[in-house]
Amino acid sequence: MTMQEMVAKLNKWAYEYYVLDNPSVADTEYDALYDQLVLLEKQTGVILPDSPTQRVGGDPLKNFVQHTHLKRLYSLDKVQSFGELKDWVDKVVKALGEVEFTVELKYDGLTINVTYRDGNFVGASTRGNGVVGEDVTEQVKTIRTVPLSIPFKGVCELQGEGIMRLSVLDKYNRSHPSDTLKNARNAAAGAIRNLNPKTTAERNLDVVFYSNGYEEGLTATTQTQLVDFLKSCGMLTNYVFEKARTFEEIRAIIEKIGANRQNYDFLIDGVVIKVNDFALREELGYTDKFPRWAVAYKFDAEQVTTELLDVEWQVGRTGKLTPIGKLQAVELCGATIQRATLNNFGDITRKRLKKRALVFVRRSNDVIPEVLGAAEEGGEEISKPTLCPACGSRLQEVGAHLYCVNAEHCRPQIVARITHYCSKNACDIDGISDKTVELLVDKLGVKSVADLYNLTVDDLLNLEGFKLKKAQNVVLAVEHSKKVQLAQFIFALGLDNVGTVTARDLASRFGSVENLSKATAEQLTAINGVGEVVADGIVQFFNETQNMEIIERLREIGINPSYEHKVATGAFAGKKVVLTGSLTNYTRGQASKLIEEQGGEIASSVSKTVNLVIAGAEAGSKLDKARALGIEVIDEAQFEEMLGK
Ligand code: NAD
Repeated sequence: MTMQEMVAKLNKWAYEYYVLDNPSVADTEYDALYDQLVLLEKQTGVILPDSPTQRVGGDPLKNFVQHTHLKRLYSLDKVQSFGELKDWVDKVVKALGEVEFTVELKYDGLTINVTYRDGNFVGASTRGNGVVGEDVTEQVKTIRTVPLSIPFKGVCELQGEGIMRLSVLDKYNRSHPSDTLKNARNAAAGAIRNLNPKTTAERNLDVVFYSNGYEEGLTATTQTQLVDFLKSCGMLTNYVFEKARTFEEIRAIIEKIGANRQNYDFLIDGVVIKVNDFALREELGYTDKFPRWAVAYKFDAEQVTTELLDVEWQVGRTGKLTPIGKLQAVELCGATIQRATLNNFGDITRKRLKKRALVFVRRSNDVIPEVLGAAEEGGEEISKPTLCPACGSRLQEVGAHLYCVNAEHCRPQIVARITHYCSKNACDIDGISDKTVELLVDKLGVKSVADLYNLTVDDLLNLEGFKLKKAQNVVLAVEHSKKVQLAQFIFALGLDNVGTVTARDLASRFGSVENLSKATAEQLTAINGVGEVVADGIVQFFNETQNMEIIERLREIGINPSYEHKVATGAFAGKKVVLTGSLTNYTRGQASKLIEEQGGEIASSVSKTVNLVIAGAEAGSKLDKARALGIEVIDEAQFEEMLGK
């Protein structure tokens, strides 16, 4: 590719990204070509006048009124490895001597520049090309986290990132199935750069403030003081704000943030390191595009583009079919990705996915990444299967999902049900992995969980990889599982949408499987967190004769657990507790266990029925909500006090 071609391509992509809010390639692809261009410019000394390396962002859209920033806005220089970051720190230290740095999250949204005068919000604009942006005053006014008045009476322009929380995006996409948004960054940008402020309001954005531009009379002389000032204005500001003096300290903070990346309810694409002292910043100055006193450490991309080659349908425990996309191998977060989930057939249509076409793939919390949407038009239609790929039975369509109803004879369903029954949070039968279950089904004719209790040591010795000790241990573990608690047993039955928390609630409400099997949808939906879909699934499960037969067989074997109501004692007795943010001395699991041991109940979301919120570092929206509802909030030290430590 010639330099002209590179520039033309990058400018086209930048136009789609900045102006249309509709990128046709993932950031990794843009960044890779951009880096090649930077290298070529360095090697040849030639820089074309329209090179993207010389300008910030994109030009403002003509149909918006333009706003000339009182002071120019910049982009950020970036580094992608600790080696490059060390070079940057060394350069700063060489110029200024040892200094204090601040470390913040790099929010992935859209820069918003807000102007305040005499304590009032007077306007907001996008960054645009750094000099002129689009006036988005009316749009930004709809964002509740942008204060319309602040105590500071001088003139100032403050910058923050317009973001859409991931939970908000998810909710939006669920309620707008025919008009889903590709990702939170484009969703935020599209909501603000939109002529209809109602659209902005509907998307429920937030702005996180982190810097100032032009100002008259602001007393902050450091980033730390600026952050305090932003807080005093009632603004959302950095969720993480740490100080460091050396490269090693910065690195440790970045590693901690990186490990926690998946837990934020918003997109971050890196960490921003800034010189804390404003006077020292001026000594370093700016290039045409970046301040020299700050740098973005970019994380590995969590989203890439690649070709969707084919679709494979997997049958799960409940007979639900999950389409798995086979992808042209691509690097994502340090791993080569060749498969990604497409969730269900409804999702395939909604996201307009086609075979042999480019798609966006994102790393998700699950092991298997997710296909977000089509990146280009064209490709081959993905057909809806009518027969189960495993057993050939006719499929049933329920909402967005396809089901194989041949529960009794469809092999992958049998294997998945037994594996689930034996899993840790269920009957916890040690020594039976999914591979073992396949052997039990294929070689010993095991058809249901009840058959596990007929297995003998001799049977197991016939299986590959089984010696006497192992076979004896498995038989013992199976026997031991007869003492299972009710909540674990309900979970083990593998009802659709019933996780460990719902299983526990069902156990405490109904006290036995027999009572649960007679529960009506009305009684079920009265339980907090059980909606109609979950309730219908439970009722249907107990309506199936074959499920009742297995439960009966298990009862005959001696498995008939009942719920023992424990009288709660201890520091958390009678309290419904939510954990948010990260604690230093405990994992979520450890903290939950300690609370439960002391009589408390753990809830996953903040609502009026919650009595206490324990907020660790970087607590986000749950903490905000708790405060809004006036719920008691304590920190880790107070939590330890309650535990009696
Ligand atoms: P950038 O987004 O990489 O970094 C600069 C921006 O970071 C600032 O303007 C600010 O808005 C934001 N920011 C977030 N948190 C911050 C904090 N705590 N402090 C200060 N600033 C913070 O730079 P850019 O110039 O806006 O965009 C360049 C990037 O955009 C590229 O590297 C690429 O990844 C992406 N891009 C993608 C395409 C595409 O087609 N996919 C095209 C063009 C650009």
